[in-house]
Order: sequence, then structure tokens, then C-alpha cells
Amino acid sequence: MVLKLYNTLTNNLEVFKPLKKGFAGFYPCGPTVNNYIHIGHARTYTFWDVVKRYLEYSGYKVRLVSNITDIAIDDKILKEVKKAGISFQELITKYTMAYFEDRLKLGLALPDVNCLATQHIQEMTELIEKLLKKGYAYETSDGVYFNISKFKDYGRLSGMKPKELKAGAGKRVKEDEYEKGVAGDFALWKKHKRGEPYWHSPWGKGRPGWHIECSAMSMKYLGETFDIHGGGQDNIFPHHENELAQSEAATGKKFVNYWMHPNLVLMNGEKMSKSKGNFITVRDAAEKYSGLLLRFFYLNTHYRKKIDFNGKDIQAVKLKLNRITEAVRRIKTFSGQGIVAGIPETALLKTLQRVEKNFEDAMDDDFNTSLAITRILELVKEINKHFAEHHGISPKTAGKIFNFMEKTGRIFFGDLFESEILKKEGLNSLSEQLLELIIKLRDEAREKKDYNKSDYIRNELKKNGVILNDNDKTTWSLE
Ligand SMILES: [Zn+2]
Ligand SMILES: [Zn+2]
Repeated sequence: MVLKLYNTLTNNLEVFKPLKKGFAGFYPCGPTVNNYIHIGHARTYTFWDVVKRYLEYSGYKVRLVSNITDIAIDDKILKEVKKAGISFQELITKYTMAYFEDRLKLGLALPDVNCLATQHIQEMTELIEKLLKKGYAYETSDGVYFNISKFKDYGRLSGMKPKELKAGAGKRVKEDEYEKGVAGDFALWKKHKRGEPYWHSPWGKGRPGWHIECSAMSMKYLGETFDIHGGGQDNIFPHHENELAQSEAATGKKFVNYWMHPNLVLMNGEKMSKSKGNFITVRDAAEKYSGLLLRFFYLNTHYRKKIDFNGKDIQAVKLKLNRITEAVRRIKTFSGQGIVAGIPETALLKTLQRVEKNFEDAMDDDFNTSLAITRILELVKEINKHFAEHHGISPKTAGKIFNFMEKTGRIFFGDLFESEILKKEGLNSLSEQLLELIIKLRDEAREKKDYNKSDYIRNELKKNGVILNDNDKTTWSLE
């Protein structure tokens, strides 16, 4: 199958055709670093990490560029800075560091380019000058604004009609200071107000509007037209609509071929908000559940569906995570060594082949991670069945399976595959083989209805932290 993805621009599932063969240019919007990132942000960042890793799995070279909005200034932030008795710069530095720490907790690879808005003021002012020269922007006493009525395609991405947009923008003006009044024209540059940090520009002291940074930086590092632009669903309007308008107005070229927008994370069915107090930071969630579980939890729902963040669903996902983790460790211990021979492995190898194909089909179908995980669990089930029946596996077959589990594990678990899945205490190969032997002996005792012996073995193993599960076949797990 070929990779298809859902494009917000056309509201269609489309075959991914990169501009340059074998290369994907990718710009997901990064954080505004004036607070800790929350579990909604973490969902989108985790998804981008999976997109990047799966594109690489599929043979693409990926350039992932992501911004850090280190100039978002509003009254609340200025108040916070004043209260804390620190400088604006100190606040921004603190939360920028926190952002990178949180990324590590989720096993996210570093973007290929991390661009700070404050280091690209020059590119932004150049872009604004271009828009002024072409007649798409105008200067007022408090800033420079983009004239949306000049851009015929305005509303194309969000699918809003210009009339609704005007009404919508009019309502937004109070909450979003980057939106200006009823006309829906948005700020490209805000002129300086007392007490605010500022930069120099052709229009005097001031600071850029929010949207212009992503246009300026994405085009700088990926070209005037690039493959994929992403952001949370709440970025479609106004942020991405405005980015598209100002970029295409400036260059006269198509800005982005594919726009992707993961859905929201709800808290027990409700939208998260600071005022409701149901706002969870990534660091708190990772503390409570582990970054690994948090990451895996997100991937168990398709990215275009809402996720409800609740303890019950997280626990259900944890069981899946444990099953995969155990299978990976078990297969790994058998993959390099051992002299097991004469075990029938055809069924297992057939399952591997089928699961490999089904995994790719699921991921190629608009990154259906939840289905892809179901496929992996089918393989895990077959592995467990195999061990229950045969108590061993040849190193060659184990190696093949491990190779697949590792490739897919690095997609699902990112950098945590190494540190959390592989490196955690497990059994070595000899212990595993001895344990399988013990289970085999116990099976024989049970067949002879010698339940004293089989219970004795079960209890002794339990004392050593090994739990036996007697279904139709006996499997084991570590406590
Ligand atoms: Zn953007
Ligand atoms: Zn952005």
C-alpha cells in the first residue's frame, strides 16, 4: 500500500506525494513557552514523532522543523513576570528548558531544526515588508495588519466563509489580542506598549504578531512550498488560516501541500481549561503514569479522534503495554543465543509475515496507530501461544521477530524503546530456558493430576516473583 494521509486543506484522504522523491519537509507548530506544556500538547508532539519515525521506516529522509514561540506576550504573562520578580527572558528560558525535559519524558526525537522566534525577527520583518509592498498589508497607529479581503482564498483551510470569518474574528478580538476587530484583519506587527519587551523594525519598536513567525521560519528552513504542516486542531483557525494567507500572498506560490491536525484531549469528557482547573501538565501526568505509558496511551486512539483522559482507559492501555514489553524482552533474550532445535515454527513465522504487512497497511492508512498496535498484539498472542506449546524458540526465528518488534517499537515508543523497554530488568536467556523447563515439568505433573506438585511449583515461583497464568496453555510473567 502507499501512504495516505488526511489533508485538512481538501478534507480528503490523499496519497502522500512528496515534492522531492524520498524526502519529506515537515513543520509542526511548537509550543508557546510561557507555561508548562499540557497533555493536549503532548498528544500532538507524540503524534509528530510517530509520523517522522514512520516516514523514516518507509524510506523517507525527513527534515522536521519546529518553532519555539518565545515572544508570546500578553497581560497575564507580564503580570506573572512581575509577581515572580523575574525578567521576561528568565521566564521564557525556564519554560523552554521544561519543554525539552518534557520531550525527553515522552521519548520524542529532537526536531532537526529548533527555531526560536526571537532569532528570526529579521526574516519576519522582511516578510511583512513584502506584504506591504504587494498591498496585502497596511500600517496603523498600533501596528501592521494583514488585509484579509485582499486575499481571495481566505478561509480555504478552515472552510469558513468570509462572512462567518468576519463575525468570528469580531468575537475573538477580546480573547486573542492578535486578532483585530470586526474586519478580521490580523496583526503582523504590534507596535510597542510600555512595559513590554520589544525589537526594532521599519515601523519602530514593537514585536511580531504570532502567526508571522511560523510562515517566516518554515519557509526559511523548508522552502516557499513544502510537504507537511501540522498543528493541534485549535490551530486551524486562526493560526494556520493566517499563515497560509500571508505566506501565499507574499510568494504567490502554494505554501503547503498537506495540513494535518490531531484532535483534542478531553479531561473526563470535558475540554481542558485553566479556569476549570482540569488542566494537567505533561510532567504531572508522566509522574503519575510514566512518560512511556502516556505516549502509548495517545497512540491507542486514532489521531483525528478525541481522546478522553481518564484513569480507567489508561489502565486498560497499560495491560497492552505490559504484554508488548514482556514479549519484546522474551524474544530478545532468545534472539542471540540458545541451541533449541526441532521446534515447529511455521505458524509463528506466518503470523509474523501477516502482521508485518497488516502493520504497514494500518500505518499507511492515515497513520492508524491504534489498528497497528492491535496488529502487534496479534503477534504477541502468537508468541505467547508458541512458548506455551513449545517452551523455546530458535535464535534465528527469535531474531526475525525481534527485528520487527524493534523497528515498530522505535516508532511507538520512540527513544523510550531503548531505555524503558529493552533495558529494564528482565530474565537472561538461561533463566528463561530454565523457567520454560520448569513449566514443562509442571505441565506433566498436571497431566498426571499431581496437583500437589503443580501447586508447589506455582507457589515457589511466586515467591521468586514469577506469576503463572493457566489458561488453555500456561504462560508466565514477572511480578
Ligand atoms: Zn504553523
Ligand atoms: Zn505556528
